[in-house]
Amino acid sequence: EAEDDEVRRVRGRSSNDNSDSEEEILRDQRDRDELERHIRERDAARTRKIAEPKLSIKEEEEQANDIGTLRKNSRREYLKKREKKILDELKDEIEDEQYLFKGVNFTEAEKRELTHKQKIIELVSKDIDCVNEYRMPDSYDQEGGVDQNKRFSVALQIDRDSDTTRAEQNVWEEHQIGKQRSEEYQFVFEDQIEFIQESMMEGVNVDQELPIESIQKSALEKLQEDRKSLPIYSYREDLLQAINDHQVLVIVGETGSGKTTQIPQYLHEAGYTKRGKIGCTQPRRVAAMSVAARVSHEMGIKLGNEVGYSIRFEDCTSEKTTLKYMTDGMLLREFLGEPDLASYSVIMIDEAHERTLSTDILFGLVKDVARFRPDLKLLISSATLDAEKFSDYFDCAPIFKIPGRRFSVEIHYTKAPEADYMDAAVVTALQIHVTQPPGDILIFLTGQEEIEAAEEIIKHRIRGLGSKIAELIICPIYANLPTELQAKIFEPTPEGARKVVLATNIAETSLTIDGIKYVIDPGFAKMKSYNPRTGMESLQVTPISKASANQRAGRSGRTGPGKCFRLYTAHNYMNDLADNTVPEIQRTNLANVVLSLKSHGIVELLNFDFMDPPPSEALLKALELLFALGALNKLGELTTIGRRMAEFPLDPMLSKTIVTSDKYKCSDEIISIAAMLSVENSIFYRPKDKQVHADNARLNFHTGNVEDHIALLKVYNSWKETNFSTQWCYDNYIQVRSMKRARDIRDQLEGLLERVEIKLTSNVNDLEAIKKSITSGFFPHTARLQKAGSYRTVKHPQTVNIHPSSGLSHELPRWVVYHELVLTSKEYMRQVTELKPEWLVEIAPHYYQLKD
Ligand code: ADP
Ligand code: MG
Repeated sequence: EAEDDEVRRVRGRSSNDNSDSEEEILRDQRDRDELERHIRERDAARTRKIAEPKLSIKEEEEQANDIGTLRKNSRREYLKKREKKILDELKDEIEDEQYLFKGVNFTEAEKRELTHKQKIIELVSKDIDCVNEYRMPDSYDQEGGVDQNKRFSVALQIDRDSDTTRAEQNVWEEHQIGKQRSEEYQFVFEDQIEFIQESMMEGVNVDQELPIESIQKSALEKLQEDRKSLPIYSYREDLLQAINDHQVLVIVGETGSGKTTQIPQYLHEAGYTKRGKIGCTQPRRVAAMSVAARVSHEMGIKLGNEVGYSIRFEDCTSEKTTLKYMTDGMLLREFLGEPDLASYSVIMIDEAHERTLSTDILFGLVKDVARFRPDLKLLISSATLDAEKFSDYFDCAPIFKIPGRRFSVEIHYTKAPEADYMDAAVVTALQIHVTQPPGDILIFLTGQEEIEAAEEIIKHRIRGLGSKIAELIICPIYANLPTELQAKIFEPTPEGARKVVLATNIAETSLTIDGIKYVIDPGFAKMKSYNPRTGMESLQVTPISKASANQRAGRSGRTGPGKCFRLYTAHNYMNDLADNTVPEIQRTNLANVVLSLKSHGIVELLNFDFMDPPPSEALLKALELLFALGALNKLGELTTIGRRMAEFPLDPMLSKTIVTSDKYKCSDEIISIAAMLSVENSIFYRPKDKQVHADNARLNFHTGNVEDHIALLKVYNSWKETNFSTQWCYDNYIQVRSMKRARDIRDQLEGLLERVEIKLTSNVNDLEAIKKSITSGFFPHTARLQKAGSYRTVKHPQTVNIHPSSGLSHELPRWVVYHELVLTSKEYMRQVTELKPEWLVEIAPHYYQLKD
């Protein structure tokens, strides 16, 4: 973006104004061409650089004659490469700038900035030599055949001088380090990450572990025993009494105390299901499924009968279902059909502390329903102690606290900030594995891609270590993980082995995995952020809050004393992390919510009883967008289009696309595309050893028409042609499970089409019709090509790029419409399709006008 601005500034100055004489335009074009060529060459050079590593990993492995050297070398190499890359980029940037400024007079400020950058380069270059301050103890070098355990517990020596050059450290931290340095360090792995044990989280220090069952029991009996050992069990009667006495009750208890799985069962046992269903909401899909499965198991019945779950696009309930677990979003949708929730006797808003958008909206709706349905019981349950806020909101509802059983947790911080938390997490996990007593490890990562990558890295490293270490079982868990695999994380770890669970935030409070003794917390989570000024929403990896960090740490102290390794410094924790996570309602695009509130008949949004009101700017933006999409009229009332859109459990822009496809006679194609977009980024996969094959297979779907939306359609249709063949998916490096999910979603969208009286019409050869439908939903997401291959969004100018995974990442059409923005190393557009600018004026004349 800065680069872009520079260009404009420079041009503006050299030509005094923006008047485009012919000569100016030509010169402009030349400049641009030359710059593009320059950047192409630079990128090619970079690729070459990356393509010629000094040692292949294989060679590196062979060279490494012991674990220590292998670990040390690969990490050192890695750090070096990384620093080098940063340096190269900075140098390039300066070159670019010098190129751009050729023949132009710098302002003083610009000169200052350039010198500043040059200074950074010098600094970083100097730093490169002292990156590897970890030094192998001499004794280790000489010891050769020393035994495993000894080798790993050899204390680490630190090169103090280079440590103190680390920018981050302040006096306070130095003090802490000084305190710790003398103590022998226990978690040593050659080039390991250094941790400082900072504090002990208070907890009830119960010394004895839970009694081990010696007598063989039937599985069901055993489960019933387990139920009785949960902290909540001793409060069963009191709790039921409290629920009986009060209409609204706030329930607070540690994660794992049994709130989610037990309370609905207690209520069922106490007869509440005779009067209606018990609904329990979960912010996450996986949690709803997994908890329902657990409860049906405990009750000895088949999932989907008396106990079921309902999540978007998947309803596993039946007429018989009386205990219903569901996502908060699903209950929100149920309100549409049943505004008084008449079929429920109890609603439990679980994980209330998560404060998801849907949960926040539900608060307002259920509070209202409770007023005119005195027989409805309302339970608000939360894992954090910040319950007063919920109580205040629900007119001073009483708070029921379930005293937790938590063991003490030792907190360890890294000594210096970690450049790459993934790498650091993997190293730490291995470090724990080889040096620490039995107990499973839980690593918090930000998403599926990261979890898969970490799994690869760990496997790779373990292979390198061979039989020198005990078995390490890797269990990933994230939202899209197939149900069969989800169960794996709950399986007890076999003797002698250790489990390492790679989880997203889901394991923070929604799921409890027994046996975790070690938590590795990199300190990040993927979060939505929203800029109400531009109306842009993007997903980005963001530092977590202190509250989150403490929840994460607490996961290690459930069944015995635990340890938490934070991959950030104590100083970071103290000074950089916010106290609490900002509720989603304050950092998200509200179009969806506004549309759904409007269709719930809530007209005056500003008067809605929000626990924390969203910024009014964001509300206005949402109204503006819905108006632009034609969902609301000038008076802010729902239009026919809006009413139809609200039927679809999708983002308003996607719903609009579907609704408009009627006009372009291609609803069949559009719902396939919408279904494919709804399974997120998990259609294609690239196995490490077959990346080229996978990429080629993927490119096949882009031939002729490279656009991503069209490619998704082609994938779906080709699969359909093979009669939904699994083999076909394997052959084409496509995830069969994602495709099945897409098919389910598509079926449901087809059902909804009927409901809003849109005919299913196919028009597969008219790509223009398809693209116009997409444009009529996504016209606020358009961007125009700039110099240097980047794009500028049209409505609120911002520099963005086409995501490298897109079929258009090399084509670079002049105008594109995109599905979403994600912020990783850059702001990327994901799922991109070419667009003709005249369509914008045709489709959204109220939004776009031709400039004369
Ligand atoms: P809370 O809601 O208070 O965090 P839960 O009711 O989710 O607690 O969990 C209570 C206990 O039930 C957990 O400690 C765990 O032992 C067990 N549990 C929950 N879900 C599962 C599952 N899917 N598989 C096995 N055990 C589970
Ligand atoms: Mg729970």
